[in-house]
Amino acid sequence: MNQPRPSDDDRPVLVLGPNPTPNGGMHLGHIAGPYLAGDVYARYQRARGRQTVFSTGTDDSQTFVVASAARQGGDPQELCDTSTQLIRDALQAIGISVDGFGPFDETYRETVLTYFRELHAAGKFRLKTVRLPYLERTGEFIVEGLVEGECPVCLATCRGGLCETCCHPNNFDELINPHSTIDPNDVPTTREATILVLPMEEYREELTAYHERWAPYWRPHMVQMVRDVLSRPLADLPITYPLSWGMAAPFPETPGQVLNAWLELIPAGMYTSSYAAASTGRDIEPGRLWLPQENTRIVHFLGFDNAYFFALTHMALLMAHGDRYVRPEWVLTNEFYELESEKFSTSKRHVLSVQDILAEVPRDLVRLYLALTAPEYQRTTFTRTGLAKVIGDRLVGPWNRLAETLGKAVANGGSSPLPVSAVGRSRAATMLERFDFNYEMPNYSMNRSADAILTQIGRLGKLAAELDGRGLDAEPEAWGDLFLQVGALLALSAPILIDLSAAAVDAGGFDGVLAPGAFETADVAPFAPPLLPRLAPESTGGR
Ligand SMILES: [Zn+2]
Repeated sequence: MNQPRPSDDDRPVLVLGPNPTPNGGMHLGHIAGPYLAGDVYARYQRARGRQTVFSTGTDDSQTFVVASAARQGGDPQELCDTSTQLIRDALQAIGISVDGFGPFDETYRETVLTYFRELHAAGKFRLKTVRLPYLERTGEFIVEGLVEGECPVCLATCRGGLCETCCHPNNFDELINPHSTIDPNDVPTTREATILVLPMEEYREELTAYHERWAPYWRPHMVQMVRDVLSRPLADLPITYPLSWGMAAPFPETPGQVLNAWLELIPAGMYTSSYAAASTGRDIEPGRLWLPQENTRIVHFLGFDNAYFFALTHMALLMAHGDRYVRPEWVLTNEFYELESEKFSTSKRHVLSVQDILAEVPRDLVRLYLALTAPEYQRTTFTRTGLAKVIGDRLVGPWNRLAETLGKAVANGGSSPLPVSAVGRSRAATMLERFDFNYEMPNYSMNRSADAILTQIGRLGKLAAELDGRGLDAEPEAWGDLFLQVGALLALSAPILIDLSAAAVDAGGFDGVLAPGAFETADVAPFAPPLLPRLAPESTGGR
């Protein structure tokens, strides 16, 4: 089996962030997870000249919406509507470059229903009578986000269906000591319900082969989780639930039931990707990018807490469709991001929304710090003192000194092209190679990309300090080498420092394209690099 070589892989790329649940706005923990990771990756793919579609949307069918609305004393649909707008605004404000944010509309619904109708018609589902948590007081079943208890696998507190700590499923009546998430004093009994399930065991061989194919390239925590899940009997996957919120299941055997909301996410991705493709000038039907003949490289970014669904159940459903659709190739997980060493919690008001931090700190600075500290392999934390220190000491201070030195030389020395030496070209090529390593699969890492930006600012700052005060005429080649490398750094920082790079394109620093050989040039036009905005003093003191 050949090792994947994505650096040479110019196939079209489909990048997906998981559809956020519209039960509130977006905090920094959400952004530092899959959305910034997807954005930086998509921006790099576009800069490499690859046909790229990056999309997401909301998953309004989730029971978490009902539970959140009930706790707030509001209406679920209103919560969906206000939250969807907050989410869209947050993504836009921090520069998450989705090509389209698929609305939860009729085409969404029809795409999801078609996906499941086809599996139903092909006889992939089975009727199964199970016991589900039931509230005698209200006469309602409570599953998924409506019920909380202890995980039967790791004993952590978790919701129904999935434990976000160990990422194992808990189905039907398996939660220990369950209670309602709307009123913790409401303790359910169980009642029988006849629902449709997908027998996951029938996909064991295919799932195992798929995971072993990709295990060397995925992040270790997910690989460990998948192997752990596969080492046990695979739980039947509920396709329908007897609930009043969600999309009505179109099956005669389960009247009045709805589809398991989690399972909408793959057809939802098929819909949002076609919706997003339209904004890139491609009018395609939902699911088109998932057909083998499209030869698409599908890349999923998601939180570890959702990994069971994306790595196992969603794959089994795709496999149940036979060879009709391709499977995602890269499924990259992130761990939890904390705020000042404590979990983000909207209910405890321990939260920092995207809009709140951007009111204080310019977004390039936020993006760099989030990229540097994103929880790629383990839980990490956002701290205000950390932000102020990194941004002040390693980013804004050194960059602005470097940019001012170059700006001064341009102001005194004119704009005639400067010669570049073989050494200068070699250094820029080394930078390109190293950033490509960090931005591409299988090594993709925002942490290392952000650190590389800071490292290169430090290195080029020293070169600039040595040349400071000497005219462009006196040392044309040394200046030429420096301008080439600063231009390369701006180009290579562009997926993270989006406003700085846009200003640099305007200043003539680079053309925004990162094809191999991009810095093979005999001369370079000097330019005054843009400055980074400074952090306001009140943001630096911590609180
Ligand atoms: Zn668990």
